[in-house]
Amino acid sequence: MLDMLQLRTISGVTGVMGCLMALVMFFQRRSYPPSIHGLGHWAAAPLVAFASAVLFTLRGKLPDLLSLGLANALMFAGAVLFVAGSYRFFERPLSARAGLLLGLTGLAIIAFMHFFTGPYGYRVLFMGLLLGGVGVWHARLIWSQPVQSFATRFTGVVLLLSSIIILARAVTAPFMAPQEGLFTPSPMQVVYLLGLAFGTLLTSIGTVLMAAEHLRQELERLITHDSLTGALTRRALFTTGEAELSRARRQGRPLSVLMLDLDHFKQINDEHGHLVGDRVLADFVERAHAVLRRPAVLGRYGGEEFVALLPDTDAEQALAVAERLRASPAADAALPRCHVSIGVATAQFEDTLDSLINRADAGLYQAKARGRNQVVQRLAAS
Ligand code: GH3
Ligand code: MG
Ligand code: MG
Repeated sequence: MLDMLQLRTISGVTGVMGCLMALVMFFQRRSYPPSIHGLGHWAAAPLVAFASAVLFTLRGKLPDLLSLGLANALMFAGAVLFVAGSYRFFERPLSARAGLLLGLTGLAIIAFMHFFTGPYGYRVLFMGLLLGGVGVWHARLIWSQPVQSFATRFTGVVLLLSSIIILARAVTAPFMAPQEGLFTPSPMQVVYLLGLAFGTLLTSIGTVLMAAEHLRQELERLITHDSLTGALTRRALFTTGEAELSRARRQGRPLSVLMLDLDHFKQINDEHGHLVGDRVLADFVERAHAVLRRPAVLGRYGGEEFVALLPDTDAEQALAVAERLRASPAADAALPRCHVSIGVATAQFEDTLDSLINRADAGLYQAKARGRNQVVQRLAAS
């Protein structure tokens, strides 16, 4: 069994570890793009918890209102700051009602610690239920995110395990001997203090991992999506196209391709300016996305030319999709009207992605030659 000195050591190491992790988070915040939110809150949370721990150790030297009331309220504030950081990180606003409720809870903690004169165990029960509750709330927030990664699962599991330890200590506390305090050696205290130490370290690592994963996703999006229109970049279009073609071949499913080119687009630039031209391009992609359904994807082939990949779509269906797209209205009716010519091709057994796109391009060329604002399908590789 660990003795009292060692329990104090574990507790002190936890505090120092929290401060070091806060330092890491602050530096990470400085080097990360400002579009990633919540890192400041995450960094501040262990510092507030540390301030609370310092107040706890001054019990007897400071008035109880500080070393008990404020210390517990600060510990709660640290946990809440941590959740608030996650709300910011996931771009979810924390409602004013929740903020008010949390503030009132902080005051209630100070009042409870000041006026409650019952046994120590009931203070632990009161705080443990609050802190464990905040932890479970936090884990739920992270798990309810639509996009999960190793980082979110890891953080969620660590938060849940820490909360379970806090809650287990809380509900057993009223049955402890009256003189047992935080540093009285008992199995529950050892589990609790070790849990707190590992929990502090692992949740901080979890948030660092989540921030890094967020950055990776943002960079990946920059590489694979055209910044003006949000369509896939040419490079991503070809990667997806190759994957879809081999999947179609493997599964014996059809795959069609549309080659789209805006009609007389140069005139729009000339008459309305380049900026309006840009908006027409972005509007066209919005308009196309309103017609195309997953798993179809749209990529910017270059300038005002686009390619749509239509998995699981045979020649007849592809022609219908192309016609719907051609006839579709602009998303923003205030923009100058812009028609589109479309070439349609469907993969044959011997096709490569290049030959398939070339055939669609030949259809597009014919559509332009026939007067534009039309759809031309090229059935055979001739
Ligand atoms: P056609 O019907 O034969 O396709 O005529 P067009 O005017 O659409 O074709 P052309 O190839 O002559 O002109 C394409 C124009 O698209 C020229 C180029 O300046 C413009 N363009 C290409 N990329 C962009 C862009 O990102 N923004 C804007 N505003 N214009 C672009
Ligand atoms: Mg054009
Ligand atoms: Mg063109």
